[in-house]
Amino acid sequence: MAYTSDVIVVGLGGLGSAACHHLATRGLRVVGVDQFQPAHARGASHGETRGVWQAYFMGPGYVPFLQRAYELWDHLAELRGEPFFHRTGGICLGPADGELVPAALASAKTCGLPHEYLDAAEVRRRFPTFTPAEDDVAVFDASSGYVRPELVIQAHIDLADKAGAILRFGEAVVECATTSSGVRVRTAAETYEADKLVVAAGAWIPKLFPQLTLPIQVLRKVMLWFDPIKGPEDFLPGRQPYWIWEGDGAIGYGHPAVDGVNGGVKAGIHSGGDPANPDELDRFVRAEEVDVVRAFLRDRIPQLAGRYLRSGVCMYDNTPDLAFVLGLAPSSERIVLAGGTSGHAFKFVPAIGEAIAELVIEGKATQDISLFAPDRFGRRE
Ligand SMILES: Cc1cc2nc3c(=O)[nH]c(=O)nc-3n(C[C@H](O)[C@H](O)[C@H](O)COP(=O)(O)OP(=O)(O)OC[C@H]3O[C@@H](n4cnc5c(N)ncnc54)[C@H](O)[C@@H]3O)c2cc1C
Repeated sequence: MAYTSDVIVVGLGGLGSAACHHLATRGLRVVGVDQFQPAHARGASHGETRGVWQAYFMGPGYVPFLQRAYELWDHLAELRGEPFFHRTGGICLGPADGELVPAALASAKTCGLPHEYLDAAEVRRRFPTFTPAEDDVAVFDASSGYVRPELVIQAHIDLADKAGAILRFGEAVVECATTSSGVRVRTAAETYEADKLVVAAGAWIPKLFPQLTLPIQVLRKVMLWFDPIKGPEDFLPGRQPYWIWEGDGAIGYGHPAVDGVNGGVKAGIHSGGDPANPDELDRFVRAEEVDVVRAFLRDRIPQLAGRYLRSGVCMYDNTPDLAFVLGLAPSSERIVLAGGTSGHAFKFVPAIGEAIAELVIEGKATQDISLFAPDRFGRRE
């Protein structure tokens, strides 16, 4: 006999775990299923840090949703009695006529966000580890910072569990279908039935739901941790902000040394990436890949371009416009789609979890999520 509930959440990574918390807290009978264990390192939500940034370079349309996420990061801290969002400050750098800084500045101005616009000399004075080019400018956002994705996922899972959600790990979903009265999800171990289905399977969505024909491209992304050449304490939170930097046709990013001077300092390249199969992800990081990041750092944060300590491999699931997919499936109001997060959704995670719960319960979200409408690619089912 099938296990019945109000809603089934497929995928308990960043988005799905938040959804389970918000759904179960609202009193729904929730079943969540993931093929791996909680906060695993095989999807898109691992690697110790995720940057959180409000003067959003993706456009002002994202800002109200981010502001809601900021409120919910604080709410999560209250619920758990520990901070999740560490506001270390963040800085976005690049040419004044580039893509990144003008976009961040436009969002800050349009939405009236507190920010500072800095020239290269001021950047050098304020952040001595940075060596911007003469024509680089920057937007500093003091409210920016980082969260630890593994701890966030575990917190959402614990809260969902406490609110009565049934959470199954190590159980791969092999089939999802709508029925005359609801939805059915099958794993090797069990069949689950419910009124509604939340699809939060990240990079696996195109494989698991080919019928949705969403234009999602999965990319392999490398994260690296470097040992600074000197003065590792310059990279501690409080001194070193979270940074994103446009230059040489790429966008790089990095975090402060969140685990102290011996943990290494994380940096990577946000742009680009090789197409990947999530079930056969190449986890071997080649010397050439390290060289690319080190060269980016050498020109901008030379003190950080030291010994490479360790790495991780992760995935982006990119849509053509790099906006998320979040809303009711065009084919069925019983299905909520949450994916295609294009390498930038973790900062929104609590707000996405809340929006998913509202979509399941009311069929619409309080926040404006029209940017993420699943049917914007045209009906392809
Ligand atoms: C290197 C890197 C750096 C990033 N930096 C930032 C940043 O600084 N700021 C930011 O905001 N965002 C950042 N992001 C993006 C952010 O981390 C992602 O957008 C977010 O984590 C995506 O979460 P998700 O729930 O969609 O995917 P996941 O966390 O991967 O979750 C999907 C889940 O679905 C499960 N699943 C899939 N198929 C099945 C199946 N058949 N049966 C059962 N379970 C299944 C998987 O096991 C997985 O647990 C970064 C991403 C990467 C890779």
